[in-house]
Amino acid sequence: MHQRNELLTRPDPVPAGSDAVLALMSEAYVAVTVDGRIVEWNPAAEATFGWSRRQAYGSDIAQLIVPHRHRAVYRAGLRRLADGDPGRLLKRRLQLIATHRDGHELPVETTLTITDRVVHALAHDMSATLRGSRFTMVEAAVSRGLAEAPTSSNAAARVVEALGVRMGWPVSELWLIEEQRQVLTCAARHNRAGRDLSDFAITELEPGVGMPGAVYRNGRVRWISDLGADPSPRSRAAARIGLRVAVGVPIRTGSQVLGALCVYGDRAEEPEDILIGLLCGLAAHVGQYLQRRRAEELAIDLARTKDEFLALVTHELRNPLAVILGTVAQFDEEDLGPAEQARNLRTIGNCAERLSVMADDLLDLARLESGSLTIQMAPLDLADLLTESIANTKPTTEAKNLTVRAELPARLPVRGDSDRLRQVADNLLNNAVKYTPVGGTVTVSAAPDPADPSWVTWTVADNGIGIPVEERPRLFRRFYRASTAVAARIPGTGLGLVITRTILERHRGTIAVADTTGPGTTFVIRLPREPMILSR
Ligand code: ADP
Repeated sequence: MHQRNELLTRPDPVPAGSDAVLALMSEAYVAVTVDGRIVEWNPAAEATFGWSRRQAYGSDIAQLIVPHRHRAVYRAGLRRLADGDPGRLLKRRLQLIATHRDGHELPVETTLTITDRVVHALAHDMSATLRGSRFTMVEAAVSRGLAEAPTSSNAAARVVEALGVRMGWPVSELWLIEEQRQVLTCAARHNRAGRDLSDFAITELEPGVGMPGAVYRNGRVRWISDLGADPSPRSRAAARIGLRVAVGVPIRTGSQVLGALCVYGDRAEEPEDILIGLLCGLAAHVGQYLQRRRAEELAIDLARTKDEFLALVTHELRNPLAVILGTVAQFDEEDLGPAEQARNLRTIGNCAERLSVMADDLLDLARLESGSLTIQMAPLDLADLLTESIANTKPTTEAKNLTVRAELPARLPVRGDSDRLRQVADNLLNNAVKYTPVGGTVTVSAAPDPADPSWVTWTVADNGIGIPVEERPRLFRRFYRASTAVAARIPGTGLGLVITRTILERHRGTIAVADTTGPGTTFVIRLPREPMILSR
């Protein structure tokens, strides 16, 4: 450790009143005797190197702030100054490496002068300037990487890697909003030293939660100088793995915020405009890239939807319309008896009903996808909701002689949008009824998940026509209808499951087809009972 010489008297190298000047100087001023003892140390030196004036006085400069490997060269330099042979050491800018009190190394630029065997050094920390020039390289690497990236996830990985590898940030992350679910997901994370990130490495956050969530929601830069002192659980998780500082900047296209770019460092640092400016520049690159990418993806999606929509119009709209027109024509052309007239009217009514269901489904989907249909969360009893849905299908199930079993607790309180969850219940039950032949069985069950009672597991099972295993991955695509339904000539739009899944995702839930090969189909839903408390 550094040595102190308590007996050393403090010489006065500058005229009276200089203390005030030294205190105001933005550059670190350090004066040492030619044998290396510190005799002056101003407030800027305290800030630059972390040692107080009291601690520095009398210490050996080499031991206090020179990295071990440079000490011999340093002492040799002082000897040359003492011998009056300064060589190229005086009156020019020297670039040196110093050690901060907390152990990190910093590049400093210094100029030396000597008076009466006292060496005066004016020094300033070059970290920010060097960071600036390294950042220019990062920006170039990022624009190159974004131009060449084959996919969005590859592009995200390149951005965080550039920040980690070239800028030395121990952890960097890129978070993006998933618009449908309104959840932030971590598109890429770089862990430079491969440290164990444990519970810091989560992949989803609610808007407003944690630093990425706060940056996304407010659309503003956030700098947490000391993660250990920040109350948020994620900051505490960061502090537990040795991270001290966090900086997050929003990623936007125009006025819309798409996510957050966040870096985490392992030593406390105060906000620095240069770094914020540079990170914002980088985030702007990413924003432009994402906008371009989204436009391309949207164009492809629109083209596909257009094809699917045309197919739907051809089959599902034209069929009922043709039946309606043909039946109406019979009224004109033939002299129908009352029984035939009644049958024809029923046929027209059924077809009109099919068209109206399709129009409702299309409108619902459009509203859910555009975000104009909001989810109103309130406490509700899921057992009650399912019992009502089952009661509502009674006329159809009786007509088809289906057995409907309800395996439900007396009460199952959850938070959710009762109208939308009822729509989910009806969609799944109507499908089970529709795709199960006469005499079959449909079972609706719901209960708290035994492994985690804060979740509900809800299943709708039938022993009907089933869905071939290889077709199941496509089931939740718009307009998709399984070959079994098409072969059985059972009408449908292929939109109900897409709507169902979107509503469940807005509740932070999931839906999947159970991995069963047996006869029939089982849909499994997992729903958090308190969606808003999740991932906080
Ligand atoms: P629709 O039933 O109007 O066609 P959905 O989106 O509700 O639309 O369902 C999509 C497809 O999934 C259906 O066309 C059908 O092929 C299949 N499907 C859904 N539920 C069942 C079920 N219970 N049994 C068999 N197939 C089903």
